[in-house]
Amino acid sequence: MRSPSVEERIAQDQDFGSRVELALAATNQLFNARNSPSYVAQVLQGVNAVSTKVQRTTRPFTGVGHAELKAKVGAVDLDRPLPDTAAALEELDGLYLNDAVYFHDSRYAAHLNCPVVIPALVGEAVLSAVNSSLDTWDQSAGATMIERRLIDWTAGRIGFTGEPDGVFTSGGSQSNFQALLIARNHAVAKLRTGNGGARLPQLLDRLRVFTSVDSHFSIQKSASMLGLGFDAVIPVPTAQDRRMDPAALAAALAETRDAGLVPMAVVATAGTTDFGSVDPLAELAALARAYDSWLHVDAAYGGGLLVSNRYRHLLDGIHLADSVTVDFHKTFFQPVSSSAVLLRNGSALRHVTYHADYLNPESAAKADIPNQVDKSIQTTRRFDALKLWLTLRTMGADAIGALFDEAIDLAARVGSLLAGDGEFELAATPQLSTLVFRYRPLVDGALLDEDAADSLNPAIRAAIFASGEAVIAGTKVAGRHYLKFTLLNAEASLGDIQEIIELIRRTGAGLLADTTEVAA
Ligand SMILES: *Cc1c(COP(=O)(O)O)cnc(C)c1O
Repeated sequence: MRSPSVEERIAQDQDFGSRVELALAATNQLFNARNSPSYVAQVLQGVNAVSTKVQRTTRPFTGVGHAELKAKVGAVDLDRPLPDTAAALEELDGLYLNDAVYFHDSRYAAHLNCPVVIPALVGEAVLSAVNSSLDTWDQSAGATMIERRLIDWTAGRIGFTGEPDGVFTSGGSQSNFQALLIARNHAVAKLRTGNGGARLPQLLDRLRVFTSVDSHFSIQKSASMLGLGFDAVIPVPTAQDRRMDPAALAAALAETRDAGLVPMAVVATAGTTDFGSVDPLAELAALARAYDSWLHVDAAYGGGLLVSNRYRHLLDGIHLADSVTVDFHKTFFQPVSSSAVLLRNGSALRHVTYHADYLNPESAAKADIPNQVDKSIQTTRRFDALKLWLTLRTMGADAIGALFDEAIDLAARVGSLLAGDGEFELAATPQLSTLVFRYRPLVDGALLDEDAADSLNPAIRAAIFASGEAVIAGTKVAGRHYLKFTLLNAEASLGDIQEIIELIRRTGAGLLADTTEVAA
């Protein structure tokens, strides 16, 4: 029996007919030459919605509660689309845009999020529409060359000579993970030569990683994901200035070696998340070399110093690292995501190479066809490099550095203010653009006691967040609760931050008055 033609089926079966119609209509939403005007119109609607919102917001947050937003988002019927983009954007206003946390606002001073530069947003629009994938040449062409140039440029800024290489990643956590994966395989390759080719799991138990107590938690997580266990990371004490103490590292390395264990990597931090402290890189490099250990520098935060006009010297010695993490989506003012891992000796990237017949067979490598998948732990990968490219081509590196310099200078001025204020305690002199402090006034002539300060400061933070008037962060120092500012907005003035400080003081005094009332 002859099967019916599509036309006959449409005539006989209404349901089939409407599905065909739907598919035909859906092709109007494919980005192609025919629909290009519609692309421009719809994207402009989206861009206008954000632009209008940013012009109208007067504070970083509305203070909306999560239960309210959960209910609103939950009430959307995802199986019933709206008539058009305008309707979807209008709905999105209520679900997201009205209540988003806005990093461009000068009273957002919480985490390592930055206001973003416009050339990078142009890059986002271009890269997602073309949708290149940075794994192979036949999915990327020039995009691969642009990413490679930026890797070379960054390596040059670090001061790597010889044959450095690297790759863009989704963020600092992934960059750190990849660096430690390479360090692990490098260490294991050395161990195997003396162990008659022992299998990987048999060797993992002997590996140790050294990093300061103030380093980022992604180091512990990486160790765990690499099969070493969280406790393979040896926490090294910091000195008074929150930088890793080289004498303490030397002692820890010696102890490890005496115990017959292998110092796989020393992880230095160039800009700790809480204190902005930069470990003494050259001294740590010398120790790592003496113990035949890998040196990774986590410059997720401090990476922006590579383009600083006044503070580049804080990174002195970074060129001695074996690998470096740089987060462009922090101190290069790029939208998430944009990060890179750089290797002093690019050939070390072979530790993450795998040849898949369908994608990157060895024959392609032999034919010298460029590919990036050999260097990455991702396969399909965004062309995030384009954002940094357009930023450098439009604004230039010095302008980016100037934005970070502004934030560093502002932090220094805020630091002096807080240090001279009897109601605040500053945990450490600011080194980059963070400030860790707590509100601790005199109550009846005596300094508010530690335990009371411990409950008061998180309560201040929560109350301010709920008001939406500012967003600040919190952290712990020696087990005690502190508040934290991370300043990355070059548009924020000292006056703006002073307003947040006064808000903290008012909120804290109000909360204290409430508790005394309750107690009385
Ligand atoms: C932010 C940060 C990371 C993690 O980077 P993500 O991009 O958030 O994954 C790692 N290390 C340090 C020092 C950081 O400040």
